[in-house]
Amino acid sequence: MQTIHEQFIQTAEVMQGKPLFERPGQPAISFAQMRETVEALAGALTAIGVTPGDRVAAQVEKSPEAVALYLATLQVGAIFLPLNTAYTGPEIDYFIGDAAPRLFVCDPGQADGHAHRAGRTLAVETLGADGRGSLMDRAAAATPREDRHPAGPDDRAAILYTSGTTGRSKGAVLTHRNLASNTEALLAEWRFTADDRLIHALPIFHTHGLFVAANMALVAGATMVWLTKFDAEQAIDLMDRATVLMGVPTFYTRLLKSPRLDRDATAHMRLFVSGSAPLLAEDHRAFTGATGHAILERYGMTETCMIASNPYQGDRIPGAVGMALPGIAIRITDRETGAPLPDGQIGLIEVKGPNVFEGYWNMPEKTAAEFREDGYFITGDLGVIGDDGYLRIVGRDKDLVISGGYNVYPKEVEEAIDALPDVLESAVIGLPHPDLGEAVTAVVVPKAPIDEAAIRTALEGGLARFKQPRRVILADALPRNVMGKVQKAELRRIHADLYA
Ligand code: ATP
Ligand code: MG
Repeated sequence: MQTIHEQFIQTAEVMQGKPLFERPGQPAISFAQMRETVEALAGALTAIGVTPGDRVAAQVEKSPEAVALYLATLQVGAIFLPLNTAYTGPEIDYFIGDAAPRLFVCDPGQADGHAHRAGRTLAVETLGADGRGSLMDRAAAATPREDRHPAGPDDRAAILYTSGTTGRSKGAVLTHRNLASNTEALLAEWRFTADDRLIHALPIFHTHGLFVAANMALVAGATMVWLTKFDAEQAIDLMDRATVLMGVPTFYTRLLKSPRLDRDATAHMRLFVSGSAPLLAEDHRAFTGATGHAILERYGMTETCMIASNPYQGDRIPGAVGMALPGIAIRITDRETGAPLPDGQIGLIEVKGPNVFEGYWNMPEKTAAEFREDGYFITGDLGVIGDDGYLRIVGRDKDLVISGGYNVYPKEVEEAIDALPDVLESAVIGLPHPDLGEAVTAVVVPKAPIDEAAIRTALEGGLARFKQPRRVILADALPRNVMGKVQKAELRRIHADLYA
């Protein structure tokens, strides 16, 4: 098995002057140039004192140089640790305290605030959105390194913190095998090659933007149309020269709002991928209606890279995430007993394969609790495998509502609410209730004026009584993080006293 870094070097040998990054209004960066930057940065890391096994933490804006820093870190055998750019002082204190990196790279604008962290065991350098900063100055001054640390498949490549949707972010320790096996599986499944031109508008501190999108292009020799943020109109402009878009569901919601999204605008594209959060079945159908393309929805998580995907050839079913990727096993188990369940029954999604992480950084008990004895990892998501063999996610175990002793799967209630003509979207949560334990509660974003009573009346008959929301709260928008994930924990906190 070759590491992502080794595969990139081999690809760069072949691709040479071909653009790896194309940026609107800025010069392209070729594979050969990228390789030079990686080797210069590997020299800088060595000069700074980074040795194999050390952590290199980076909280930097999206730039080609940030990707080069990731590859250089792998080259010297260190562990890459990207951090969400939204994290502030106390959060960074936690991550740095937890991961104890040898180097912390921050934005030049934040350098003063982080200067106090520098010391004997931690170096602080800067890298800006424009690709400049003290780290690049060091790279220019250092002797480039061509040699690489011989990393084995089970050596650690990265620590990636989870999105923190259900609680404090956990550091998932990923090995070279995890990254390389997943990239290999995705390249084959999605027929991704050097001929592809990928619109890359995702952040690169998350598994989707870095370990799905960027790794695929780096290894395949494809060109990335590199955007620092997603703008629907700009994306549509770029589609006539691109082939693939990888996005979170909100990308698609926003594209659907544009009157310019049609068959002509997307004629050059061959694949639209969605993941990181559930794609509304309604958006899936509307997208096909507008463009003729069926969005390919896939499912993964920080701890496991990608797990399942709708087929490249075959039905891409709205509301389903498809089948396990090659080499990966999925099973559904009873959430109380842990016993495997037959198809058609809802339970915990468990996964085993070369994609599954080593464990949580510094959290041996948490790691032990999330793995079964036979090696399966308990994802914490609830799902069901249908007669058609497709996996459908019904929500997170932590979001399951238990009301009066009955299990209520939020997604089922949300789908019923979202189907009402005046509703844009909804989130169903369980809130503490004196009689029921938890009461089914809906937070609803209307698209036309509608009140609580009308929504509750409209749901009567369509849903069993115990699934019907006790209360409906109207809202202007649902709280979402940068990956488009609805922050249900926040909704539960805000409305905790509704039935008190
Ligand atoms: P934390 O673990 O810190 O609470 P998180 O689980 O949101 O945060 P990630 O690893 O970024 O952190 O997200 C993985 C989760 O995203 C999955 O467990 C699943 O709940 C959700 N997810 C990913 N893809 C899909 C999808 N296609 N449909 C539904 N949910 C998805
Ligand atoms: Mg998670």
